Amino acid sequence: METISTDRKTNWYSLTREGWQKFLSGIDDRSFRAQQVMKWIYHERVANVESMSNLSKSLRSALASVTYNTLPQVIHTSTSLDGTVKWIIETESGGAVESVLIPDGRRNTLCISSQLGCSLDCIFCATGKQGFAGNLSVADIVGQVVIVTDWLLSNSDYGDLTNIVFMGMGEPLLNFAPTMDACDIFMDDLAFGISKRRVTISTAGVVPRILDMCQRTEASLAVSLHAANDELRNYLVPLNKKYPIAMLLDACREYLSSLNDRRIVTFEYTLIEDINDSVQDAKELVQLLRDFRCKVNLIPFNPFPLSAFRRPPENKISRFYKQVRDEGVMVTNRTTRGDDIDAACGQLIGNFHDKTRRRERYQSAQTQARIV
Ligand code: SAH
Repeated sequence: METISTDRKTNWYSLTREGWQKFLSGIDDRSFRAQQVMKWIYHERVANVESMSNLSKSLRSALASVTYNTLPQVIHTSTSLDGTVKWIIETESGGAVESVLIPDGRRNTLCISSQLGCSLDCIFCATGKQGFAGNLSVADIVGQVVIVTDWLLSNSDYGDLTNIVFMGMGEPLLNFAPTMDACDIFMDDLAFGISKRRVTISTAGVVPRILDMCQRTEASLAVSLHAANDELRNYLVPLNKKYPIAMLLDACREYLSSLNDRRIVTFEYTLIEDINDSVQDAKELVQLLRDFRCKVNLIPFNPFPLSAFRRPPENKISRFYKQVRDEGVMVTNRTTRGDDIDAACGQLIGNFHDKTRRRERYQSAQTQARIV
């Protein structure tokens, strides 16, 4: 029999339903085969092709010789006092990322990573300071969810996974095709079957890719806004210099109108003391978003080593919250979860070879600043 080297084999977790149909068409052209295979993989969680008992023997042996089912490797798991769980996961291409499960009443939200580090360098984000080493594959992204759903099966007090958000490491829209395929798999009834309202892509505002989403997905959209004017946003999110706020909001509007339902955009706003937390900042935000179909999600800044920013005190956070709410913009104040295990927003750092040397420059600049 012909032997096929591992690197030319296809990982089970890399294919969407359409991908399986194409892949299998060379072996068996009956379209229900893709459905059968996906059910075995995601619903029955079989360990090998041999166990897919409704496939013919010849199909099973063909499939076994061209596919494999390796998951990313779990390096470390930690559980916070509040029930949040963090996994450090080694990807297939090398390098580690983090995934965080946030239980909240009947909801279990999994925050997943899309890249090794991040190329964007938002000034208040720990991931950005780690530099960037590359994109995750579809199997690396989907693998994070498989690992966690398998874990949930043996930790039944948590219940099922209900929500997936791309709010871990990386900018999902700069890893567009794998992110889209992963969303297809998350929303497919033959795999995870999570509703399109509960699969959320969070972006710092990659405008052309938000527009591309119109033709490609129905997942929900969250945008990391953090400022209501371009001057401040240029400072906090350097990508804003390329795609300023007005352009970003237009792209969001276009995405909403491509969905045939009454979906809203979530705008994340990390509150940083004396940077974007004043009454004036709240007024500007309301002015900007008053007529937008949206919700604002306030995230109190999570400190990380060497960062000079601070979280505002509770009274300033609630002043900002009330100001926005009372002016009629929907707003939630996200309580910080998992900060005792460094699993809160913006604290994920992973472990990989930084190709940009940004980590080194950041650390030495901060050390210098402290010495002076
Ligand atoms: N690149 C994507 C997704 C990753 S960040 C994006 O920008 O949306 C997930 C969220 O955490 C973003 O809203 C980000 O701005 C926020 N965040 C980053 N660092 C933070 C910190 N130190 N404290 C609080 N929120 C932070």
